[in-house]
Amino acid sequence: MNAPIVIDSVAALRAQVRDWRQAGLKVAMVPTMGALHDGHISLVRIALEQAERCLVSIFVNPTQFAPTEDLDKYPRQLARDLDQLRGAGAHLAFTPGVSEMYPSGFASKISVGGPSRGLETDFRPSFFDGVATVVAKLFLQAAPDCAVFGEKDYQQLCVVRQLCRDLDLPVEIIGAPTVRDTHGLAMSSRNAYLGEAELDIARKLNLVLRRTAAALSAGADEATATEDAAKALVSAGFQKVDYVAARASVTLGPWQRGHDGRLLAATWLGTTRLIDNVEIPSA
Ligand code: AMP
Repeated sequence: MNAPIVIDSVAALRAQVRDWRQAGLKVAMVPTMGALHDGHISLVRIALEQAERCLVSIFVNPTQFAPTEDLDKYPRQLARDLDQLRGAGAHLAFTPGVSEMYPSGFASKISVGGPSRGLETDFRPSFFDGVATVVAKLFLQAAPDCAVFGEKDYQQLCVVRQLCRDLDLPVEIIGAPTVRDTHGLAMSSRNAYLGEAELDIARKLNLVLRRTAAALSAGADEATATEDAAKALVSAGFQKVDYVAARASVTLGPWQRGHDGRLLAATWLGTTRLIDNVEIPSA
């Protein structure tokens, strides 16, 4: 496979995408923060099934990190990322610096309501403003036909869909299934922070969620089942559980038994925050 073209300016990105468009090629985008793993690569594969050209952005977006969060220590490994993108057949890596995305004087933000309420927002109040702002910028810069987002960040996927609907951004949003290791742990760039003993604990998260989702669809009381799940996570070794919550799968409003649902959780292992979610089967 050819190495992807690496572009770090918005002007060059626009020119390249315009050339592809003029040649009649469909363009799919995969926004990432780098430290790529098999989860990201699965999104590239899906993008390449949808379009003739795949562009991957790699940008650790400061506006979605709170001052207390891991912006400085977030893993950055561009050379390795580019190798992986070459292997996957991506055509372009967009790697802007912070000053390209947020030049001096930058003063706007996009705030999405609806699915951004609650869950992550209860614990990371500015997170989705940062995500929505950078995703809107990326879509306006690159003007892709479609973009692929992972269900691993399920609330984010719902927020991005809402953003595109509300602002008439002409980008089709494609959700991609979560890629997991052989023990069910959702792949995440933040797993790099975990030692072996912590990985063993982390692997229990998906197990507890699947068990709880099955209990909910079999008729278990929602409050009891989610509280039991939080207790099971603490017993498994997680220090803290931010939430375990059942929600309607599109709006992320209250879940109603018999309707499509999603069980979402955020937990802490030491200083590492892990999220995961599973479907609540409707019968
Ligand atoms: P990030 O680099 O963490 O911002 O993630 C970039 C994109 O990759 C987002 O759409 C994520 O939902 C997606 N992603 C991250 N981990 C996974 C995974 N394990 N499986 C599928 N998609 C993922």
